[in-house]
Amino acid sequence: MSRPASMHLLRSLRPVSRHLSTASTASPRRIKNLLVANRGEIALRVHRTASQLGTTTTTLYTDPDAHAEHALVSPHSVNIGPPSAYLDIEKIVRVAKERGCDAIHPGYGFLSENAHFARRCTEEGILFVGPPPSAIDSMGNKSLSKDIMISAGVPCIPGYHGANQEPAYLLSEAEKIGFPVLIKAVKGGGGKGMRIARKNDEFLAMLESAKTEARNSFGDEVVLVEKYITTPRHIEVQVFADAHGNCVALGERDCSIQRRHQKILEESPAPHLDDAIRKDLWKKARDAALAVGYRGAGTVEFIFDNDSGEFFFMEMNTRLQVEHPVTEMVTETDLVHWQLIVAEGGKLPLTQEQVEAQMNGHAIEARIYAENPDMNFIPDSGPLLHLRTPKPTPTVRIDAGFKEGSIISSHYDPMIAKLIVKAETRDLALQKLVAALEEYEVVGMSTNIDFLKRCAAHPSFIAGEVETGFIEKHRDELFHRRTTPGEVYSQAALGLLLSDSLVNSASDPFSFFASGAGGIQTRTITFLEKHKDEETEVKVNITRTGNGMFDIRVLPTAGREAEDYSSVVVEYSPSSPKQITAFYPHTRLETTFVRVDDKISVFQRGTQYNLSIPAPKWFEKALGVKSMENSVCAPMPCKVLKVLVAEGEEVTADQPLVVIESMKMETTIRSPKDGKVKKIVHGQGEMCKAGTELVEFEGAEA
Ligand code: ADP
Ligand code: ADP
Ligand code: MG
Repeated sequence: MSRPASMHLLRSLRPVSRHLSTASTASPRRIKNLLVANRGEIALRVHRTASQLGTTTTTLYTDPDAHAEHALVSPHSVNIGPPSAYLDIEKIVRVAKERGCDAIHPGYGFLSENAHFARRCTEEGILFVGPPPSAIDSMGNKSLSKDIMISAGVPCIPGYHGANQEPAYLLSEAEKIGFPVLIKAVKGGGGKGMRIARKNDEFLAMLESAKTEARNSFGDEVVLVEKYITTPRHIEVQVFADAHGNCVALGERDCSIQRRHQKILEESPAPHLDDAIRKDLWKKARDAALAVGYRGAGTVEFIFDNDSGEFFFMEMNTRLQVEHPVTEMVTETDLVHWQLIVAEGGKLPLTQEQVEAQMNGHAIEARIYAENPDMNFIPDSGPLLHLRTPKPTPTVRIDAGFKEGSIISSHYDPMIAKLIVKAETRDLALQKLVAALEEYEVVGMSTNIDFLKRCAAHPSFIAGEVETGFIEKHRDELFHRRTTPGEVYSQAALGLLLSDSLVNSASDPFSFFASGAGGIQTRTITFLEKHKDEETEVKVNITRTGNGMFDIRVLPTAGREAEDYSSVVVEYSPSSPKQITAFYPHTRLETTFVRVDDKISVFQRGTQYNLSIPAPKWFEKALGVKSMENSVCAPMPCKVLKVLVAEGEEVTADQPLVVIESMKMETTIRSPKDGKVKKIVHGQGEMCKAGTELVEFEGAEA
């Protein structure tokens, strides 16, 4: 919980702008005390630029965020209470006034695209660091913005975006458009409130589901229906406008690699984009911004048909985006600084020609999420028990909101960090990204790090063959289960042995620190390794043959032969108990070994492996641990939204049982088997921890 680590992280990030200290953009109204009305990495990001400019920042935090990094960076930090308080407009405005803040930066998400909030700030004489409320109203609504774009001559996706919200009417519009269609919440964002309806018989169910999610996330359930384009790319343009009639496009970003309609890899420039089309996109985006008298940072998103080269306006995001660092890297700008300049009434620091002249290289961002790709990217949460990141350099940037010891709360978005790299060419940038991801170590929850690595190293991605269906299209290779190298088990066995205090005493002949050989003793260590629902048991025999020297045998199992490593020399120091260096006959291995209770994480050659140590059966019995074979449990901390079955009901495998909500996302839990429901353990509205039993089936107790 101490401050120095985060301060170090902030300091180690080089200022990204050449213009940070120029006086040429002197502004009429200088912001002195900036309230950052957000959390996590974006709150830290805004704080970083503001403090470089000598501006005081005041940060906000909620009860679950009391020890969060963004609450600790500023000496002026205010507790606003319950988890949802980041959305409490009146409370935030009141804090700003009480604390003498003259401006509010809303970050992204939360209130960033809330016109009412922007108006309330203005009414109270506080600068809102964002576009004018009227532009948020017209562009922050996917439906209104389409009207504006159509009249400005920007092509839009065919669809219905009118006022009639009758389900039957929307269905008839969907039929006119032709299936598949996409149902979108007009106030949506972050891929939420969006459902594909592939056929008319699923339309109404999808509509209902989109509306529920939209109501929960945005407090509004108006939707539009548009043609679903089956193999598109997502290309967006970063625009910036000031109050003096200047508007520039800071290049484009390709954000086609998505899961749940949300981006995970973002890059600039977009690969294989014809230069004439690129320039046309920039122009259309500037036209769009000028059409609504835009001011500040905005993104115009287009959906791009790879085959025809046609593009359509999708929406405009009236905020700074998650992926803005990619643009900062290639244009060598600090967009938060630009935002502050524009909010203060100053002029854009660069003209379009200057922006283009200074653009160089290729940048790519990977969003690191607490989620489980193998379980349909279901969000995860928990304490960050171990965190090791690549070393930040001018071309390897980490924007993070958490450090070791932080808690990833299930109340908020599960993004942990962003890793952004830049190099001269795309190929080099990808190599750099993979290398940096290989250095990233997280223990405490599932993450998508390994998955990001597989995407970034995939031949089609390297070839620039991107499309929004990329993950689906390459599912087999991206989710392919790799065999665990034998050395992972042997290193884990060494780790277990060396970190165990019992064998670290000099009087134990087996101890690493004992003098002389304790040769005869062999220990057998058992590991469990789980892949989806399948669990394998791997046994390792380990014999100490001399000072820091071991013979190790990984015993054969169903799918693998025995592996023997003799005279393995180990370097180990109890002062860095997670680091195990061992010299094998043909190789040297540096392994990070992290044990938390019965769980073990091994990081070796850039890959994470998860093992566990089995608890003896009698142990579970003694503790009264109930067999979960006849139960369905919550896969993550959640709230039960709906129970779809009744006690005593016969169900079939795959039948939906319960709908839960976690991190603003709905997930349907299906029956693992045919059976009869004995008990609904937790009903509608109840909050559950991960692993809590939700539904119990009839059946023999184990
Ligand atoms: P981008 O459009 O830059 O890719 P996302 O669409 O992923 O960014 O959304 C930005 C962030 O804001 C995400 O963390 C997302 O979950 C969050 N978000 C978007 N809209 C809302 C909202 N209305 N309320 C809370 N969080 C939101
Ligand atoms: P959000 O506000 O959540 O970012 P968007 O309208 O920008 O919503 O859409 C998010 C993603 O969904 C896009 O990046 C794209 O991958 C996909 N998408 C949106 N509209 C369509 C469409 N009409 N056809 C196919 N995919 C779409
Ligand atoms: Mg979008």
